[in-house]
Amino acid sequence: MKNCNRITQIASDGQERPLTLAEKTHLHSHLFFCPGCRAFYDNSKTLSKMMKDFKSKDTK
Ligand SMILES: [Zn+2]
Repeated sequence: MKNCNRITQIASDGQERPLTLAEKTHLHSHLFFCPGCRAFYDNSKTLSKMMKDFKSKDTK
């Protein structure tokens, strides 16, 4: 897949800020065809959630 670098960048950005509609469309249409990026996206979501959980525990 030729756009994988771009897609993984968008997936990472999506953990930091809301994505634009164009970015979301681009991301999800690519994820549909590319298992590698889908795995990366799932991992980055899980990691991001873990970091948030860790931070919220830290402040308590
Ligand atoms: Zn890809």
